Amino acid sequence: MVSRAKSGIDLIRLAWPDVGAAEAEAVAEVLASGQLTMGPKVEEFERGLAAACGTEHAVVVSSGTAALHLAVLALGIGPGDEVLVPAYTFPATANVVALAGAKPVLVDVDPGTMNLDPAKLEAGPRTKAIIAVDLFGRPVRVEQLPNGLPVLEDAAGALGAKRRGRPCGSLGALACLSFHPRKIVTTGEGGAVTMDDDELADAIRRMRHHGIEPRGDFAIAHAGLNYRLSDILCAVGIPQLARLDELLETRTRLAAGYTERLGGIVEVPTADEGDVHGWQAYVIQVDGAAEKIAALRERGIEAQVGTYALHRLAAYRDQGEFPGASQVFDRAIALPFHTRLSSSDLDRVAEAVTELAG
Ligand SMILES: *Cc1c(COP(=O)(O)O)cnc(C)c1O
Repeated sequence: MVSRAKSGIDLIRLAWPDVGAAEAEAVAEVLASGQLTMGPKVEEFERGLAAACGTEHAVVVSSGTAALHLAVLALGIGPGDEVLVPAYTFPATANVVALAGAKPVLVDVDPGTMNLDPAKLEAGPRTKAIIAVDLFGRPVRVEQLPNGLPVLEDAAGALGAKRRGRPCGSLGALACLSFHPRKIVTTGEGGAVTMDDDELADAIRRMRHHGIEPRGDFAIAHAGLNYRLSDILCAVGIPQLARLDELLETRTRLAAGYTERLGGIVEVPTADEGDVHGWQAYVIQVDGAAEKIAALRERGIEAQVGTYALHRLAAYRDQGEFPGASQVFDRAIALPFHTRLSSSDLDRVAEAVTELAG
């Protein structure tokens, strides 16, 4: 199945979920079973995710944003509190803090890693937590974060990645995963919270299910939501999780293919020595990203911005200047990145980028 760009040439898509017959079969099995939610597929997917992240618990929810929201609430964050959040990230990272009634305090990022710059962290008396993002799958330098503040790891795009041998999803007190179609494992929409702590796991389970106590007798002591993930969607995720190593291998090979073609021409993404990058996206940096994205699209190459500079959004405009985040926002381009890319696709993208960068 080939899509065509306006110009009539084949479109190289930004993303293409790696799903097929195994997922369709698994969904059909759930539909035939008569149990569409809160059934065995939820538990099976959760066991697989906890194993992949090396945590005691994984609790699946309806999106990565729902996962972040419940994680913030489980840490007891509310009005009067502040949470340190990178200035360059997907807006959900800060939105959930604001919606919990607390203040997301932006921290500048290091343009080299695109992750928050530990040297720029300043905790105040109201600071309750840090949300550290493994942006685009690059593991955050978690050991450089200050001791004594709970770390909520936004590992939305980092399933399969590792920081010095430790799986992303296990680097903080709690971590969040996303199964949006641009992530390595997708359920269409979905997410999870991972953690070792039994009480935090119970709190997340309670809040995703109307406040009902896990293993309880339908007692509700605290308000909750419905953020559950159905068995239908868990069934889509299970076969992909089973081939996570293979998916990551393919993405690592494609990333190396881009780097081979583009290293020295533009700034290419890297990981620290000894780390495993999760390759949620392949994001280069070059001056004039906005015009170059438009020019790539003209050529049937579906390039996209990296992510958002939060201080440039009306919702978070009042916190001053963040030169690292501004620099990355102005220079970042996400190139098409998915397991269907051929080496001639990589050639075509790299040739276009090289010509535009020249
Ligand atoms: C994808 C993503 C999210 C949001 O996940 P959804 O499942 O789309 O709600 C949050 N943070 C980061 C860093 C992401 O990449």
